[in-house]
Amino acid sequence: MLKMFISPGRYVQGAGAIREIGKHLSLLGGSKALVVGDPVGVRALGDGFPESLKAHGIEFRVKECRGECCQKEIGRLADAGSSFGMDITVGVGGGKAIDIAKAVAHKQGTPLAIVPTIAATDAPCSALSVIYTPEGVFESFLVLPKNPDLVLVDTAVIAKAPVRLFVSGMADALSTWLEADTSYRTGSPGMQGTGSTLAAQSLARLCYDTILADGHAAKLAVEHKVATEAVERVVEANILLSGIGFESGGLAAAHSLQDGVTVLEETHSFYHGEKVSFGILFQLVLENRPQKIVDEVLGFCLKVGLPVTLEDIGITDASEEKIRKVAEATAGADETIHSEPFEVTTEKVYAAIIGADAIGREAKGISPST
Ligand SMILES: [Zn+2]
Repeated sequence: MLKMFISPGRYVQGAGAIREIGKHLSLLGGSKALVVGDPVGVRALGDGFPESLKAHGIEFRVKECRGECCQKEIGRLADAGSSFGMDITVGVGGGKAIDIAKAVAHKQGTPLAIVPTIAATDAPCSALSVIYTPEGVFESFLVLPKNPDLVLVDTAVIAKAPVRLFVSGMADALSTWLEADTSYRTGSPGMQGTGSTLAAQSLARLCYDTILADGHAAKLAVEHKVATEAVERVVEANILLSGIGFESGGLAAAHSLQDGVTVLEETHSFYHGEKVSFGILFQLVLENRPQKIVDEVLGFCLKVGLPVTLEDIGITDASEEKIRKVAEATAGADETIHSEPFEVTTEKVYAAIIGADAIGREAKGISPST
């Protein structure tokens, strides 16, 4: 199997970075930008955004996303871009706006810049969009021929976003090395169907170490809406290191559990990273990893308030029937859990979910009988 490493063309990060957006877009050769954004995200960028575009002679039109990342919405925005004569796409906001912008740029054949206004997932850097039906049901993965040309992250903007989103992004980042490491050791193909490089593995490990070292201090800073050096480091881990780490390093059981629990309605109000958080503990139990690493992860999650039990992700009534349904979905044939170094059965997955929940409950001081 060949190895492959992919990443965004350019990554820019720092407090006030938005004031440089015009300079970087003009380097991409754009002069008419279609800005695809969620309203909160566009507002969060403030005056620095339009001023920088104008200063570099870039005309722009802001189009707000409405609803899901679905074919209809992608078509509507692409049409708006065509009538404007767009030659560059800029995605502003959270996961949904970013995924829509990626698909619009692909459809229009323009360069793509992503400006995340939250650090909740590792989606901004990847060459992947998740397509849903207009009703919000998963439809397909759109694997794009290339990653965004530019990812620009203003940490002063990120620090003012809700802290729960920021912490959720830390769980998505914490899982990166644990999954990439499993995928690498078993020689499993990654997201692009290729093998992982030493570069991706090193960045994934750096991601893990950074979250453990700086995550708590960063959370405290974001609670006060300031971008300290710890915030800078965690933003880089959440967005860049985790993005490259998962895409070029590979996924394993933690993300399959994230997918699996979505069969239960009660988990839908929880963020991706929050479900991944319990997924990490699940993967460690499934792999029977040394106690030292379980304690390390558990200690961190408890300290920053990330989920470690089923109840923490909304599953208050964990009946055997429900958890067996989750286990079946988690062990689905298309799931990345099959990069684990042993045959994955529904029975093993069920046992590891219950085992992980028990460890999480004990750590939180919840008695087994309640
Ligand atoms: Zn993820």
